[in-house]
Amino acid sequence: MQGLIIKSTGSWYQVQTPDGKRYEARIKGKFRIKGLTTTNPIAVGDQVDFEFEPGSDNAVINNLHPRKNYIIRKSINLSKQAQIIAANLDQAFLVVTLASPRTSLGFIDRFLVTAEAYDIPAVLIYNKLDLFSDEGLEILAEHKSIYENIGYPCYEVSALVGTNINQVKELIKDKTTLFSGHSGVGKSSLINALLPDLSLRTGEVSDWSDKGMHTTTFAEMHQLPEGGFIVDTPGIRELGVIDIEQGELSHFFPEMRERLNQCRFNNCRHVNEPGCAIIAAVEEGEMELSRYESYLSIYHGHDTRA
Ligand code: GDP
Ligand code: ZN
Repeated sequence: MQGLIIKSTGSWYQVQTPDGKRYEARIKGKFRIKGLTTTNPIAVGDQVDFEFEPGSDNAVINNLHPRKNYIIRKSINLSKQAQIIAANLDQAFLVVTLASPRTSLGFIDRFLVTAEAYDIPAVLIYNKLDLFSDEGLEILAEHKSIYENIGYPCYEVSALVGTNINQVKELIKDKTTLFSGHSGVGKSSLINALLPDLSLRTGEVSDWSDKGMHTTTFAEMHQLPEGGFIVDTPGIRELGVIDIEQGELSHFFPEMRERLNQCRFNNCRHVNEPGCAIIAAVEEGEMELSRYESYLSIYHGHDTRA
């Protein structure tokens, strides 16, 4: 039987068949991913084949279908150990607020670079619109001109009041969507507004399995009544950092990517080289300075996540 993984825990998975039936399943055998040792090789969003052990209702996953993309969490101690968090995402939303808490341009750019590296289309959702002062609205307009020009859609909503929630509903219909963002930006509130029946609690990290065992949920997909899934990853709501080679970084800035072949040197780092098309674009106002500063900051290994 084929199914979609909709929940992963430390020890078992929930798999949903095309007819909507759900089974608790375990893994048999080894699932390897090139270059990575994984502690939890299958994730929500994965399509798998499974079978029932003879004479029991224990479902056993025995095959993993190819993924179009996936996001991982690296273990802090063991650099080669990684955990697959979710697979086959159609889009990643970054929920942004301009105050309480303020999301910095550096943080947004880091998220966008990571999404590019993972090959997941990114969308910016500005939340708490009801709190925006005139100054906030000006900053919002600046952000939109930066990001929409590069091709990242921006939406402004209020999860609390319900403003523009229907636009987001339209956006997530029939898609698998990951929500990221600083703690406190309103991810849970937004998901609750989109899925009123769910009633998500903030910071929820554990629950109980069907068999009454206490388990940790790594990730869970919530099915939308209109079709599609919201991926919920308690604990890691900030799209994981991923190792990017310095020389590759410019490829993950769309507005740099399209100018790379105009640099005088084909190994240009776009830091201080003569004839650099990127530096010229910044000087001529064709590339946003804040974006270039984020490039330099990530290039030099500074942490722009704050
Ligand atoms: P999360 O940590 O990203 O899941 O954020 P929560 O959904 O828990 O929201 C954090 C706080 O922001 C809560 O007190 C919410 O009530 C509040 N909040 C969420 N969305 C909005 C909004 O659109 N407007 C206002 N004013 N407050 C909001
Ligand atoms: Zn250059």
